[in-house]
Amino acid sequence: MGKKFVYFRCHHCGYCCTDVVCCPTPYDVIQIVKATKLHPKKFITFFKEGEIAGIYKSDPTWLKIGKERYMMALKRTRKGCYFRDPVRKVCRIYEHRPLLCRLFPFKLHQKRSGEVSSFSLHKDVGCPKNRDGVVKVDELTKLWELERENQEDYKNLVAYFNSKKEERRPFDFVELFVVVVNNKKKK
Ligand code: SF4
Ligand code: SF4
Repeated sequence: MGKKFVYFRCHHCGYCCTDVVCCPTPYDVIQIVKATKLHPKKFITFFKEGEIAGIYKSDPTWLKIGKERYMMALKRTRKGCYFRDPVRKVCRIYEHRPLLCRLFPFKLHQKRSGEVSSFSLHKDVGCPKNRDGVVKVDELTKLWELERENQEDYKNLVAYFNSKKEERRPFDFVELFVVVVNNKKKK
């Protein structure tokens, strides 16, 4: 039985919201739309290969359109993630932020069977890793399991999108899982 707690508290230094590109799953996008009522075009962008670092060429969530590949991500401003409040320096959707944001900077350790063994703090990320808080491993495990299921659904949806032969734009992918309503008033 691994440890039950990880000692950590986020001090909202902003590193992960300014220096790291957040790639949400469709589940995360749906949660944000439900909570904010924002049109996904307001906060979703698609990076071409070469415009985003740290994602393997073999990652199954690349959208393939013609010869290009696109990765769905949260939009960025010059000051970081679209959702980071530049004045208060906090996440404007903290309660509804993507699972990847919730799992940062925790590192998963697995048993041979694939079961969660424990979590620690990633050594090689820029987070200051303040240890003055307590996070339950049970809660991290639930988040990680949900993220794993969501990634599986994401992968399957991308495979379906990539199998289509007709002309498509990257944003058509979002329309597979969010019903985009045109709210323009009739003149
Ligand atoms: S969604 Fe919030 S927590 Fe996640 S990167 Fe953006 S500002 Fe940071
Ligand atoms: S880098 Fe660490 S301390 Fe800073 S905002 Fe992200 S999780 Fe919090």
